[in-house]
Amino acid sequence: MRKVWSLFSWRSWGLIRYNSVWQNVAALFYVGLARQWSGLDYIRDVLLFLIFSLTGTAYGYLINDLADVELDRRAGKPNVFHGLRRGRAIGVTAIAFGVMVVCGLPFAARPDFLPLWIAWALTATFYSLPPVRLKERGAVGLVATILAQQPLPAALAFAALGYLCTWGALVFIAYITLRGISSDVGHQMRDRARDEVAGATTFAVRHGHTAIARLYGLSLEVETLLLGAVLIVLLVDAPPFVLGAWAVSPVWPLLIAYLALLPFTLGRAWMRLNRGEWIDPYDESPEGPPRDLLHLIHHPFPTVLLPLYLALWLTVLDWPNVVFVVGLGCYTGYTALGVGPQRGRCRNCAAGWGDARMDFDVVVIGAGPSGAAAAREIAQGGGRVALLERDAYPGQRAACGGGIEGADLELLGLPDSLIQRRITRREHHFPWGHTVIADPHVITLRQELDRWLAEESVAAGAELFTHTRVRVVKRLAAKRVEVTADDRATQQAVTYTARLAIFADGPHTLAPRAGKLGFTCTPATAALGLFYELAWPNTPMAHHEIHFAPAISPWGYLWIFPARDLLNVGLTVLPSSVNRTQTLEARLRAFIDSRFDLRDRPILRRAGGHIPVVPAARFYDDNMLVVGDAAGMVDALTDAGIANGVCGGRLAGQTACEALASGDYSAAFLARYQARWQASPRGQMTRFQSRLTRALLPVNRLDPYLYAKVMQILFLGRDLRRWQKLRLLAYPLIRSVLTPDTQR
Ligand SMILES: Cc1cc2nc3c(=O)[nH]c(=O)nc-3n(C[C@H](O)[C@H](O)[C@H](O)COP(=O)(O)OP(=O)(O)OC[C@H]3O[C@@H](n4cnc5c(N)ncnc54)[C@H](O)[C@@H]3O)c2cc1C
Repeated sequence: MRKVWSLFSWRSWGLIRYNSVWQNVAALFYVGLARQWSGLDYIRDVLLFLIFSLTGTAYGYLINDLADVELDRRAGKPNVFHGLRRGRAIGVTAIAFGVMVVCGLPFAARPDFLPLWIAWALTATFYSLPPVRLKERGAVGLVATILAQQPLPAALAFAALGYLCTWGALVFIAYITLRGISSDVGHQMRDRARDEVAGATTFAVRHGHTAIARLYGLSLEVETLLLGAVLIVLLVDAPPFVLGAWAVSPVWPLLIAYLALLPFTLGRAWMRLNRGEWIDPYDESPEGPPRDLLHLIHHPFPTVLLPLYLALWLTVLDWPNVVFVVGLGCYTGYTALGVGPQRGRCRNCAAGWGDARMDFDVVVIGAGPSGAAAAREIAQGGGRVALLERDAYPGQRAACGGGIEGADLELLGLPDSLIQRRITRREHHFPWGHTVIADPHVITLRQELDRWLAEESVAAGAELFTHTRVRVVKRLAAKRVEVTADDRATQQAVTYTARLAIFADGPHTLAPRAGKLGFTCTPATAALGLFYELAWPNTPMAHHEIHFAPAISPWGYLWIFPARDLLNVGLTVLPSSVNRTQTLEARLRAFIDSRFDLRDRPILRRAGGHIPVVPAARFYDDNMLVVGDAAGMVDALTDAGIANGVCGGRLAGQTACEALASGDYSAAFLARYQARWQASPRGQMTRFQSRLTRALLPVNRLDPYLYAKVMQILFLGRDLRRWQKLRLLAYPLIRSVLTPDTQR
């Protein structure tokens, strides 16, 4: 029973939060008010329909996962049936369908309910089931998703209460349809890159980003307007409060709140998406955009505020309806506290039912370049190693320019297929002129690179667990560590035990919370990087550009890296070097807008993150090591960290193998890892660049050109004579500075 429950509590609970179920609840309350229904029959109908709606929605998702289980496995996408035998999966789907049928039967005799129900069941079933697979039929697939998720369930809600053929129901259904369009179009826009990789031919994949972004902007605007229409319907249809000689509609507060929000929201989505900016009020994921007024008007207003308000009003008219207020209130509080449906409590394991703990020699946290390199080294050395990755696949959310120096190619052993573009020239744009140098470089896409590195570690024998977000790492007695993670696909907790834990989880590492090791991210220890991927199919650009613009980034630079079909344009800034009047995004946009060849290109992706500029004080503790960004192994001046992470990962892997062989996991034994890194040329370079940064940063306030000067002298200084360097240091007092066009 627990297993069945955990299946139902996966996505279907997630659905409850902001899905058609709550819009339908608002519709049911509206019917109650408009008809002035009360009594236990009404309460029974609403509750029964709620269960019908929940199990029907769960069925829709289960049948979709059942049909896609193999496809999702290959694409690394979450699927509730991963690890479950096909027979059981069919059984679970059948249970959902059966419960829905039982709850729907009492409504079957009501006008229009049965044909609508059959239409919904067929659309939901053949949306993903072969041979029809509506979802792979471009625009038809999009229409089928929207129909099955929004207007049909809403029409069923009205038909269940015998209120379908009214103009109020029509306005509600129109609004809910638009919500469906926005939600699904946004979903396709968000998933476009991943669907392209998985080979799915969705509408967004077929028509490209610009088309889907326009459609999204338009649907968000119409949705906002239709919310107003719904409030007007309520104003007209619902009974007013009579206070003496006055009859006041209780809808007014809602309508006033809506009208107050309107000037700040109407037109914004369309304009911003048309400008090529990335906005997505339906993206509720932690990495999604900040929750602003657009989010408020599209989410909490219709799905929390509206049903709760209507329930209160129903209670005023007939007190037994208080059951709705209590139910909704408990649910809202429950999710707001963060203990609700979005996170399962059941302890289980990604590999199989009931297998709650897994034991390894080493657990590596994070499947970026450094984690994959460490895991590969350990697996090659014969250790049993788990590689845990929070995302659906390694590199899914990697924020990086993907630039790798030609000299590091051999070290990484990259196959040609991963190289998006080979660059031979680099242009430096200084405030005093520009230089071009010969500079072999390759551009990669981190989604592809990280995936490949992780596959290499799996080929060597490591076990990769995706969707596994580590929460806590604890040292146990008897020389062991315990790593507790959430399996984000099944929403269950998983515990791994091992002799060693290696933190390779990037700059926001959990290491300092687990022991005396690792990088701590603060404005003083990390730079900020932000980039846009701009569409440019078959870009002819064969060089990359580095721009030093103190007004935009006093300690940092802007870059343009050309990949095959896009440009990666970004900037880094050391937060302590700038005043905070301008956001990072505004700085990047100012640069892009200043370039006629960039300004009108659609933005395919926007991402950013912290870049360590100060190495961690300690890379080891009892039973623990830290590597890559999590150890601050980045060149502080150039912000390059991929190759450093791979080298650090290998050293950590070698040390782990030695520890496994000797059975000694003490800090004293593991200290050799840090000593080796610091003695290596890369370790010395990161330390040198970090020290120089810290020493020069205070002077940067007096001379905003200092960073550009240091970069030219350090990396292009070979082409300058001593007196030329002195003249350069005196800029802008001496303005004639040499910037030789050098071809090395
Ligand atoms: C904007 C920007 C541009 C950059 N450009 C370049 C460049 O062009 N060239 C270059 O060499 N370097 C570049 N860097 C630096 C480079 O990206 C990093 O140094 C490099 O990614 C470090 O690799 P890593 O494996 O240590 O960490 P990451 O790449 O950050 O990998 C960490 C992994 O751990 C996972 N993870 C995190 N927390 C958890 C958890 N709790 N549980 C499970 N998994 C978790 C993450 O999902 C991720 O996959 C750039 C950085 C930024 C921010």
